[in-house]
Amino acid sequence: MASRPPIPDSSRASAQREITRIAEMRSVHAAFSYLHNQEMEFRRWQRELTEIPAPPFGEAARSEWLRQRFTALGLENVQRDDLGNVLGFLHHKPGAPLIGISAHLDTVFPHGTALQTREEANRLYGPGISDNAAGVTALLAVAHALKRTQLKPVTNVLFIGNVGEEGEGNLRGMRHLFASSPWRDAIRSLLVIDGAGADTYVNQALGSRRFEITFRGPGGHSWSDFGVPNPIILLSRALARFSDVHAPESPRTTFNVGVVSGGTSVNSIPESATARVDLRSASMEELQKLEDRLRECAAEAWREAPLTHRSGELKITLAIESIGDRPAAELPPDARILQIVRAVDKHLRIESFPRLASTDANVPLALGIEATTIGAGGDGGGAHTLREWFDCSNRDLGLKRILLVLLALTGVQE
Ligand SMILES: [Zn+2]
Repeated sequence: MASRPPIPDSSRASAQREITRIAEMRSVHAAFSYLHNQEMEFRRWQRELTEIPAPPFGEAARSEWLRQRFTALGLENVQRDDLGNVLGFLHHKPGAPLIGISAHLDTVFPHGTALQTREEANRLYGPGISDNAAGVTALLAVAHALKRTQLKPVTNVLFIGNVGEEGEGNLRGMRHLFASSPWRDAIRSLLVIDGAGADTYVNQALGSRRFEITFRGPGGHSWSDFGVPNPIILLSRALARFSDVHAPESPRTTFNVGVVSGGTSVNSIPESATARVDLRSASMEELQKLEDRLRECAAEAWREAPLTHRSGELKITLAIESIGDRPAAELPPDARILQIVRAVDKHLRIESFPRLASTDANVPLALGIEATTIGAGGDGGGAHTLREWFDCSNRDLGLKRILLVLLALTGVQE
């Protein structure tokens, strides 16, 4: 692990004392009141953001929205990088180590999805309202709260609205930040805010691999070319075989066929058929086994296809392309960031539990940099569906939790 900003010592008791010390600061109280009192403003941000489309690779409008917010708020050195990640410092101290706090801007919803939001009692509805408009709202809320106080974190604090977390985005925003941004070597810890809730923290990064499998053939007329291998059928055979694979419950391992496409009309033998497959596991070994099996099933289906037809030789091809690869990784049980989160939760009387998940934290965790993912407060459901909702009740508990974790990570004086 990289070197860390100072914290007295790493025992559990000292983490608890440090949280108590921070929580008693007058400025922290002021920040807490702000987070409690501005709920209506937070809802406005959250609904506004949800209504701006942000499909994977189409986050530009949201990036611009956040860049304007960061600038108006007075964050320093605000910038939008080549990919669309939006970055801003609380106070930019060149050369100081850096603690990042991030929320992803992208959604799973394609262009053209109706993104209207509505509000009923304490509930907000809209696609992406929770994952991750709630996270971006929390990022902004905490930035506002800190900017209004006299608190002076020991390290730099970098606020990050990043692109490319969902699906085919394949964590590209976070990968870029840790691979080729000017800050990549300065980041000591990353706190990721994703989705609703205030009672979990990620201590294990779920690995995943995604593939696009394509069968191609000459195609033809359904009647006159009958007998030419049909890519849709070859693909179906491959998927049917693969669906029988045994995925262990421990370490938990899963697979899904999420998209199938191909063909032009009911009376044409298609020229191609494609499926997108998602494999997940807490174990890199199980992930590899699953990938091997997927490749075998596809190859078996391909080998069974006839290679000749009365019209002559046939060219049937199979291509398996990787469209996503997220490393599995794990925080050591005594990691400083875990001690901090647990101490904060104890202080706030939150009964929290660790979680295995695939989030932006996978990237730093795989590099050996401490990171965790926590929720934006409130409650939520229906993620990745058009019925997604966010319940704002007690959102401020989640926001206080984020603020305390962040300040303990940075170290702080009044
Ligand atoms: Zn998310």
